[in-house]
Amino acid sequence: MTDIPSDPPTGRRVAFAVYGCRLNQAEAEAWKASLAQAGACLVPATEEADILCVHTCAVTAPAAREALRAIRAFRAKDQGRRVLVSGCAAALLPPGLADCVIPHAEKAQWLERVLAFLRGLGALAPLPAPPPPRRTRASLIAQDGCDAFCAYCIVPHMRGAPVSEPLPALLAHAKSLIDQGYAEIVLTGCNLALYRDPISGVGLDGLLARLCELPGEGRFRLGSLEPCVIDDAAIARRIAASGGRLCPFLHLPIQTASDTLLARMGRPYSAAKLRAALDAICATLPALGLGADWIAGLPGESEADHAATLRLLADYPFTGAHVFPYSRRPGTPAADFPDQLPPARIAARATALRQAAAQTRARALRTFIGRPLTVIPETCREGHWVGHSAEYLRCRLSAPATRGRPTPFTPTAVRGDCLV
Ligand code: SF4
Repeated sequence: MTDIPSDPPTGRRVAFAVYGCRLNQAEAEAWKASLAQAGACLVPATEEADILCVHTCAVTAPAAREALRAIRAFRAKDQGRRVLVSGCAAALLPPGLADCVIPHAEKAQWLERVLAFLRGLGALAPLPAPPPPRRTRASLIAQDGCDAFCAYCIVPHMRGAPVSEPLPALLAHAKSLIDQGYAEIVLTGCNLALYRDPISGVGLDGLLARLCELPGEGRFRLGSLEPCVIDDAAIARRIAASGGRLCPFLHLPIQTASDTLLARMGRPYSAAKLRAALDAICATLPALGLGADWIAGLPGESEADHAATLRLLADYPFTGAHVFPYSRRPGTPAADFPDQLPPARIAARATALRQAAAQTRARALRTFIGRPLTVIPETCREGHWVGHSAEYLRCRLSAPATRGRPTPFTPTAVRGDCLV
């Protein structure tokens, strides 16, 4: 996590606006840390900034539009303000909108280019002694890119073929995060299932085994995992055998449970196979935190397709859900499918999915009452520490705790989306 100086020195102040997936968030966190180290004055709110770094996302049209709106609003307040744009949608924004554009293909030079830009503005000043790091959760980027080309998804078109971090470098990075005292490290990638060490060919399961062997106390959490890797529940067995080192939590971008739509979107499995995998996972990890992404209103989605997705959502103990209304992304095959749904129907189906997800989540959360959990306290509000358990359940503690220190906690009730 990046530390933001509470009392920044005078000078040009830099804020970030980050859109999209966890990978985008992780990249921005790493860049913020490097800018702070180089003497940039980071501020948390765009209103306080003179320079805005916008890390964009092209996965949905609203995400790209939101970035555009933010840039225009930022500039409108003061024409002297500067804007730097990066990320998947950088190349799609109107020309002349930003002072510096770093397209996705040049992402590796982001830091170098931004530092040069800031130096040119005289915006790098030596900072006073940095505050101590907040050691709760850090991201470890293992992989980027995807070549699955699901029909609706823009990611392979923007991020290109999969590229994995070499295993030795990844293990060294993980060890350094543990040594810095991070309580939790989130393994992140565009399609983590595609992780392959470029030299040895070791895949995701091998990477997890090696991470578990690292000395120290930090726990590891898997980021979003495409459902194709959960076929034989090997990942669940790896988690179960890790002695708590790997968090019992999976987040699966399931999107739909309709066989017709799975085939049409190019997903290489059926709904029955998905259910068999979920059965095996839930049997291996009975107290699992289970998150999922769902898309409402994919082209051609019939009432029966929608009902199949609602049924799956109700049949398994999903503790978290992200519901996305289908967003037509030019350049993807699905954008040209003739049977697009009207926006009102997409919105209604998204609402239905959100309601079903809330009911499923409430049911699933109740099964954790009385069950001992380990929580990492993150923030303290009105005398109560709030953090996440290994299962990624939001927990509110009544006993004293220390930020970032794993704390035993047995919930007695559910309040809203929180175990208390
Ligand atoms: S696997 Fe995920 S990232 Fe890759 S194309 Fe499909 S939806 Fe997009």
